[in-house]
Amino acid sequence: MTRERRWAVTAVALAIVFVVGLALTNAWWVRTHRPEAASPPVTATPSASPTPEPEPLVSPPPTRGTTSIDNLTDVHDSVTEEGASIDISEPKATGASQLTDPIAQYIAKVRSDFAAHAKSATGAKLKVAWDVITATGPYLGITVNVSTVTDADHSRTETKSFFVDTVKGETVEGQRLLTNAARDRATNRLGTAAEDVRFSDAGEPLVVGHEGAYPLPASDEALTPAGLKISKAVSDKEDFAPLPAPPKPKPKPDGDGVDCSKAKCIALTFDDGPVPSTSTLLPILRKHHVHATFFMLGNSVAAHPDIAAAVAKDGHAIGNHTMTHPQLTKLSNDEIASELDRAAAQIEKATGKRPTLVRPPYGAQNARVLSVLRSRGESSILWSVDTLDWKHRNPATTIKRALASSKPGGIILMHDIHPTSVQAVEGVITGLKERGFTFVTVDQLHR
Ligand SMILES: [Zn+2]
Repeated sequence: MTRERRWAVTAVALAIVFVVGLALTNAWWVRTHRPEAASPPVTATPSASPTPEPEPLVSPPPTRGTTSIDNLTDVHDSVTEEGASIDISEPKATGASQLTDPIAQYIAKVRSDFAAHAKSATGAKLKVAWDVITATGPYLGITVNVSTVTDADHSRTETKSFFVDTVKGETVEGQRLLTNAARDRATNRLGTAAEDVRFSDAGEPLVVGHEGAYPLPASDEALTPAGLKISKAVSDKEDFAPLPAPPKPKPKPDGDGVDCSKAKCIALTFDDGPVPSTSTLLPILRKHHVHATFFMLGNSVAAHPDIAAAVAKDGHAIGNHTMTHPQLTKLSNDEIASELDRAAAQIEKATGKRPTLVRPPYGAQNARVLSVLRSRGESSILWSVDTLDWKHRNPATTIKRALASSKPGGIILMHDIHPTSVQAVEGVITGLKERGFTFVTVDQLHR
């Protein structure tokens, strides 16, 4: 081969190497830089792809503790039954226990299941705890955590959430906030029932499992209409509508169940009503939990039956002060009976109860009057403290006289027909209470 020919062959060979190299480089470039869309979707050929990365889980949103909500209390029960330890905390809405009933029913079922299956095993343990997960708008979210140990090798933890609607008075399980599709997806990913549904601050639903929380979109794809409402309240950061307050126990009148042979008892009595100023007196007595005795005139009851009924309804004692306020000592036996009968009929008509206590007008009585009363099964009630309120019409004097002469077992005479007497009542009550007196009705004095 000539020198020129050898050079030409080398040049051709180099040219071929260059061209082939260029072609290969180009093929690599195209293969590695073609757009993503051009590649077939991974899910379309699952058999050809490696196992897809599982969808990522996130941390569950922080809980709020069990003591953060007014009127929601923790009821704790810790017992050992046949060697098994049972420790149960459950939430109770004190003013509206029906709201927490579905949770109580769930926990009761957990407890009976445990009793049926696990209890006999040595070292068996059941622990139920709860936490507040949402408190916004009318919604109160609670998660309940149940952990069961049946023996050294078998333990189980499950959580379940509940959402209370404090306005509608309904409680739904968290899983009912998810669409079926979302629930299935969460169950597949978490490997456990999608029962613990919570919400992020942004209102996104999160299904909590053992390894983390599975996030779902805050849309109707994942949430039922009930779930969407809660999601919106959470993301709008609505203020929590509080749980209803527990009903206040009705205060017992101070004199209820009092033994007047031991306590310093005293009875307030009001004569000649009922009149409109009696209606002003009732709230004062109610405020101080005092029951008094009202000696009513039949004519006044006929004029104000509603006020007589209000006196009876407040728990005061009602006695008979005759129909027309005569001096009974000046009447015949039949006239006395007629005065008392007519008044008693009016009182019974207005209050539903026939009186048996009688206060003779002006305190005027004699052996004959008393024998008429006795024959009727009625008692005469006079007084030990005369405030003379009808005479001086001065509240300060009324208070002074009542406080100065009251002794245990005493009966104070006042008249609810005078506004000045009604004005004195608060001072009489507080003054006597400070001196250790307990107010009772006249019939309680002699019990
Ligand atoms: Zn009178």
